[in-house]
Amino acid sequence: MIDFDSFSNRWEISAKLTLVTPMRIGGGQNAGAYSLSQAPVMLSYDAQTEIAEPFIPGSSLKGVLRSTVERIVRTFNEKEAYIGVENNDRVLCGKCDVCSVFGSQEAGASIRVQDAHLSSVMGNKGVLEERPHCSTEYELKAGHYVMKKKNNKVPKTQLRQEEIVASNTSFDIKINLDNADEKDVGMIILALNEFNHKRCHLGGGVSRGNGFAEVFGIRVKRKIVSSNPEKLFQIETESIDPYHFCDVAKKYLRKLRKIDDRMEVERRDFDVYYKAYKGTESEGTFVVKYNVETLTDFQMPGADEVTVTSRGVPVIPGSTIKGFLRHKLIADRVPADTVDEIFGSVKGNNQHRGRIIVSDAYPESDFPGNDKIPEGTNLTMWIVFDNIKTEEFKLIDDILSKPQVITGNTAAGKTRKSNSFKNQVKFVRIESKRFDAEEFLKQ
Ligand SMILES: [Zn+2]
Repeated sequence: MIDFDSFSNRWEISAKLTLVTPMRIGGGQNAGAYSLSQAPVMLSYDAQTEIAEPFIPGSSLKGVLRSTVERIVRTFNEKEAYIGVENNDRVLCGKCDVCSVFGSQEAGASIRVQDAHLSSVMGNKGVLEERPHCSTEYELKAGHYVMKKKNNKVPKTQLRQEEIVASNTSFDIKINLDNADEKDVGMIILALNEFNHKRCHLGGGVSRGNGFAEVFGIRVKRKIVSSNPEKLFQIETESIDPYHFCDVAKKYLRKLRKIDDRMEVERRDFDVYYKAYKGTESEGTFVVKYNVETLTDFQMPGADEVTVTSRGVPVIPGSTIKGFLRHKLIADRVPADTVDEIFGSVKGNNQHRGRIIVSDAYPESDFPGNDKIPEGTNLTMWIVFDNIKTEEFKLIDDILSKPQVITGNTAAGKTRKSNSFKNQVKFVRIESKRFDAEEFLKQ
């Protein structure tokens, strides 16, 4: 209900979000009631249709939007949206514009992000899938990783099955902002747009390619209490072009940058864009689109499938390509510290997420059958290089510049066939887009 005493305006932002790669928002214990999966995703049960459907919890989307807005703001002004540390807890400043929109210890939020449910045009068929997730085990020896082996022969691997929401699934997004200004609306739209730049992702398993999405059809409505004496206490609605708000937000960012007199971002934490001002093609945050051509047939056994598919179409999972890249660096005797810097680490005192995110490689066109990706098929894949240094990028780029055998055959615990001519692919760089501060304000 609207409280007329404090209500001056309300903004309603709506959009459609379509998954480009699978999404996984773990459902925890309750989800098990509707799912047979060992690791179910979050589902909402519709008593009327008696169907349990995946959705994006408003809190998840709000969290992603907040960290995205903060990352942009801090890239333009290090002192804004400051997070301090007190007794090992992250403490919000409570004073900045981000806190006033998203809330802080001091005050509530003016934003409300609703749960995003499946778009009505969506059929429910094939929305949920099981994905095998296989990881090879390594141990640390004298600063290098060494593959663990069973009986000194076969690599030791761990296999998990995870439920995911399939790519090409669409959700309706609804966001309300109360008593906020145009700049706040603009920052939300800029954050939503980061999905389209592939710099912002939803849910878990992002480093192995989950949670890429596209957002389109953004609409903004403004609701105000009528000032017309004859329509007192009536709400008037007005639709406004979303680009208008982006312009206002960019003006605000320009002002922030002037105050901080920012020349470059030297930190590599993920709450800023490293080298956003004068970075090069191989330094900072950039998203590279690759064409992946299969030089031989590609096959990688899935959960109950001959090869892993998404909505019935065979794909090369991002986790497989990422695992291959990591394995290759280890085989090339790259020090463990460097491997951890690029792929992330959960151990020791340098814990952080990986600096590369690899999407699934999915075919550009149809081919007959779904038990393999035939030789000569062209697939599309993205790698996000996130706050990376040139020397780290070069290590990955070197591997991708030669044809490679992506050995995914052991994925479902099946024994590897000694056929080295299987699963060979070639990577070609199609385009690369960097987060560039100047460019960002111009767009
Ligand atoms: Zn703040």
